[in-house]
Amino acid sequence: MTDIPRFHPRYASLVARERVAAGVKSGFTSSQGLIAQGRGECFDYLLGEKTTESAAVATRAAAALLLLAEHPALSVNGNVAALVPEEMVALADALGALLEVNLFHRSEERVKKIADLLRASGATEVLGENPNAAVSGLEHARALATRGGIYDADVVLIPLEDGDRCEALAAMGKKVIAIDLNPLSRTARKATVSLVDNILRAVPNLTAQVKELSPLSRSDLEKIVLEYDNERTLRQAVEEIRNHLQAQFKEHQRG
Ligand code: ATP
Ligand code: MG
Repeated sequence: MTDIPRFHPRYASLVARERVAAGVKSGFTSSQGLIAQGRGECFDYLLGEKTTESAAVATRAAAALLLLAEHPALSVNGNVAALVPEEMVALADALGALLEVNLFHRSEERVKKIADLLRASGATEVLGENPNAAVSGLEHARALATRGGIYDADVVLIPLEDGDRCEALAAMGKKVIAIDLNPLSRTARKATVSLVDNILRAVPNLTAQVKELSPLSRSDLEKIVLEYDNERTLRQAVEEIRNHLQAQFKEHQRG
């Protein structure tokens, strides 16, 4: 990896970029993953590269939804594997949820590499290498899923997922939690709960919330979910971007 000076003002962002590039070099992230990362960086920049208030509220609702789930499943693609492999395993452990490799540009080699990486990161069980079901409404390679995993899950976490797949999973009656920095994306709009936050911050925050909320009763968790409004969250996220930009603009005018 390139040596990035620790004092660089955008250190975290540059490290993330290096990690995705390393994922491409190792063959588990697709080259398109670099473009997705670039898009994410842009939105993170507009948000001020921090977890906003609305993202914190969404994270709490997502944790409640996952704790209420009978069969939660966590989807992992090449960018997720490059950025937060250990953090995804920690979240799966905290929930007793299954991890399933699920790729937009599927190749058996990449699926195996990601599954191996998750196992090396401490996962005991990883699905996705032997899909045996199809999500309806998607073309063949993208529809592939595993029984007992995403296919049968009642709540699915889909970080950095595309809009069609998000919609298809929701159409199966699943509750879908997206992690997507773009509050205007189809993914964010179709999900039950959208975490408009960088996956680097969102996954550890989500695990912390799962641990914090786990002593709550089902009815208390249900209350958190009922009070949550995803449209309101997405409107707030856009407002947070606007406020951040206005503050930046004022600073530039002064300086
Ligand atoms: P749409 O959902 O509108 O169809 P898309 O799915 O075609 O858009 P992509 O560029 O393929 O868009 O998807 C990547 C999405 O993932 C973008 O919305 C981007 O903001 C988001 N993203 C990329 N990197 C990260 C990251 N590190 N953390 C969170 N979200 C990210
Ligand atoms: Mg999308």
